[in-house]
Amino acid sequence: MMAEEIIVYLQREGASRGRTTGPSSPSRQRALAGTCPDPSLDSSPEHREYRARGRPRMKTVIVVHGGAWAIPDMLAEASMAGVKNAAWAGDAVLKNGGSAIDAVEKAVRSLEDDPSFDAGHGAVLNIDGEVELDSIIMDGETLATGAVASVRNIANPVSLARAVMEKTDHVMLTDRGASMFAERIGIPIADDLVTELERKDWEQSSSFPVGVEKFFNTQWGHDTVGAVALDSLGNVACATSTGGIRNKMVGRVGDSPIIGSGGYADNRSGAVSCTGHGESILKVTLARLILFHMEQGKSATAAAEASLQYMGERVKGCGGAIVVSSTGDWAASFTTPCMAWASIKEDVLHCGLNPKEDFTERLK
Ligand code: ASP
Repeated sequence: MMAEEIIVYLQREGASRGRTTGPSSPSRQRALAGTCPDPSLDSSPEHREYRARGRPRMKTVIVVHGGAWAIPDMLAEASMAGVKNAAWAGDAVLKNGGSAIDAVEKAVRSLEDDPSFDAGHGAVLNIDGEVELDSIIMDGETLATGAVASVRNIANPVSLARAVMEKTDHVMLTDRGASMFAERIGIPIADDLVTELERKDWEQSSSFPVGVEKFFNTQWGHDTVGAVALDSLGNVACATSTGGIRNKMVGRVGDSPIIGSGGYADNRSGAVSCTGHGESILKVTLARLILFHMEQGKSATAAAEASLQYMGERVKGCGGAIVVSSTGDWAASFTTPCMAWASIKEDVLHCGLNPKEDFTERLK
């Protein structure tokens, strides 16, 4: 496919549709100026449609998680409600013909806004009693990625990560630079991310090792959130967002915003979002490891289970992952006591929280 063909197509089909195709869209500006370095990597809706011509339409899939840990009974109901709401939100995007990247952003924003989860509003606090948030978003068609780490006062880090992906030449911004960028593009400052519950938990807990031990094996922690999706054009995407682990050192960054660890998406295999002990996930690059197993022929479930088992044996880490393959095979697996998850495919919602749990609801 030549750059000239795409420019002609954009001009003929009306390139002003869609959120990334306005005058400020770097991809559109580059394409119209004929300077897109590689048109096959352009992520604007017009290019996606163009590339998908002739391909069969796929049955869409969304899978979300609300973190892998020992979820206490008092939070079980809210966690299940939160993941179901997020799955519905993502599914609505896909049903309206939206992209996988839009669906995962929407689902994760819903989880970030829900104080039951350790992301955005309700995130856990670092050793100094402050919120520091990490997030990643990745587009499996183009491998475009955006991430932010150690950001404060941003209610929806996943959307800031998406802005890094779409509006900068970089993959990740941290702390002060991320805040300056957020201000420049008009993302509002949020001063109310610390909840009363988190403030109290922080006052009672003492150190990161204690936090880690309790986080995954007792009823103390909170939970990272994530989503993976397959859209009707056959594109996959992932997003992950977290406040990290309670009592972490100031500036500690876990796996969540790190490409290949907390998430990865590639149309050639699938998309993954991880949760669990970040230092362990980083050591085994869990998201890429799962996709590697799928590339070798394993199903989504077998790949997730083999990789989590490897992480347990190799570095003694527990965690969980949600997966969707580019053919629509999906999985939600974990080695922690619980993980709240939900998926929607072909109007059937599946969800669970305890091991081997799989409730189903027909949506219409
Ligand atoms: N993986 C996250 C981190 O280590 C925590 C979690 O998934 O619950 O920052």
